[in-house]
Amino acid sequence: MPRREEAGIVMTQAAEPAESVETLRTGFNGEIILPGDPGYDAHRAHFNKVYDKHPAVIIRPVGTADVVAAVRYARSAGLEIAVSSGGKHGSGFSRTDGGAVIDLSLMRGVHVDPDARTAWLQGGANGGDLQAEAQVHGLAGVIGWMRGTAVGGVNLHGGFGMLTSKLGFGVDTILELELVTADGQVSRVTNESDPELFWALRGAAANFGIVTWVKQRLTPVPPEIVAGQLLYSAEHAPAVLSGLDAYAAQVSEDLTVFGSYTVVPHDPDYPEEMHGRPALLLTVVHIGDADQAADDLKPLREKHPPAVDQVASMGLYDFICSMDAYIVAGRQWYDTVELGRLDEPAISALERGAEALAATGLEGELIVVPYGRGRPETVPSAVTTGRAGTTSIVTGVYWQEPEDDARAEGWSTQVLSELRETGRVVDSVYGNMANPVDPERDRRSYGEENWNRLRALKAKYDPENLFHLNHNIPPAG
Ligand SMILES: Cc1cc2nc3c(=O)[nH]c(=O)nc-3n(C[C@H](O)[C@H](O)[C@H](O)COP(=O)(O)OP(=O)(O)OC[C@H]3O[C@@H](n4cnc5c(N)ncnc54)[C@H](O)[C@@H]3O)c2cc1C
Repeated sequence: MPRREEAGIVMTQAAEPAESVETLRTGFNGEIILPGDPGYDAHRAHFNKVYDKHPAVIIRPVGTADVVAAVRYARSAGLEIAVSSGGKHGSGFSRTDGGAVIDLSLMRGVHVDPDARTAWLQGGANGGDLQAEAQVHGLAGVIGWMRGTAVGGVNLHGGFGMLTSKLGFGVDTILELELVTADGQVSRVTNESDPELFWALRGAAANFGIVTWVKQRLTPVPPEIVAGQLLYSAEHAPAVLSGLDAYAAQVSEDLTVFGSYTVVPHDPDYPEEMHGRPALLLTVVHIGDADQAADDLKPLREKHPPAVDQVASMGLYDFICSMDAYIVAGRQWYDTVELGRLDEPAISALERGAEALAATGLEGELIVVPYGRGRPETVPSAVTTGRAGTTSIVTGVYWQEPEDDARAEGWSTQVLSELRETGRVVDSVYGNMANPVDPERDRRSYGEENWNRLRALKAKYDPENLFHLNHNIPPAG
């Protein structure tokens, strides 16, 4: 059974999990699932079917005390630890072969303080949990565009969401955290209590422990917002893309927009002549009033009349639910680059990428996220993406059969290498969307000074690299 020693980590001698886990059961309030137990296969399964791992034990805490017990147990048993919040990271970090999965999916509590316009989220709470609770009070927060990604992954390491133009990434809205470290200690971390750790946790939390509670800022939203999709044909897509970063920078901060260069499905909702052809889907959310939304969308609609206009009034929670329709179950690959400029050479590379995707016959998309005026970083975080004027490009490819693995990844590699050849790619990488595990790329993304700051903190809080299933920061020394 592979244990932590395989990752170059010191371990203590321990009994096999089935036997040693009995020590964990005493006083544990959550669930402990072993191979052969009902639910083992359902809970070991990963969202991305590329991964088929068999943990020695799946531990499902219901609160901070359970997380402390789980960390202490796994450490003393010498088991590799995988932490799962929403379990969606494309690298499969949340599962382990032969180790312990600490699965936070029973920890989805959200408590909104309507007067302070804040919410406390448990470490496994997801986008649906937050927006459903916030809307009861006429509020909303930043936490991705779909219900299933959770605060532990998406917001602690970035978090591009429906209110990003106004509030920044999820990480920028975090005010306070509760953390369980490798030694099983619990601490509350704020910018006042420990600015260095607060900086590091907001961007690289997975390296420093398990965050059990997060306090986030919320903002008022009307009961009906304006949201939906505009679809442009392949012929019009380059013109729309060429003005997209300037548009995102100038339009009111109530509007957040991103694009997906994709291949139109054979679906009667779309014009037949577009079926099977590349097209650009713009997704917009406007949280101001309806008149302001119409004004803000006018330049898009008048200058570039879409082939299909599905933007309408609806509740923000209804909109996040509707976005789940875009999830494709099965095997997946994600990778990303950030562009300093979204101009002609980069747009041509994207056009070729979309044509190449159509030729593969696989489902996929080239996600284009223009950061416009950039993230308002009042309190610095370790996240490096999302600066003013930059644009993230994400390759997402979805398929079913293992024999297509190489073709799917090959398409992504080819598109990103053509983008690099344009000279527009900058060093920052959005780790939430990066499947490849590449410490040198992470180091360049953080920059030498911040990489060394993170390594020093890692040596202080997790010198044995107990938490290494992540975009890993090696302890200094
Ligand atoms: C369908 C889909 C939609 C997506 N949409 C968006 C989007 O709209 N915006 C966006 O920015 N990104 C999006 N992403 C990317 C997303 O940000 C990452 O996949 C993210 O890791 C998902 O969070 P999770 O909680 O599901 O991750 P998990 O796979 O559970 O965890 C990811 C990493 O975080 C660590 N971790 C998890 N919980 C904790 C915790 N409580 N404390 C410390 N470390 C923890 C894990 O160890 C792991 O290394 C999407 C991905 C998918 C698959």
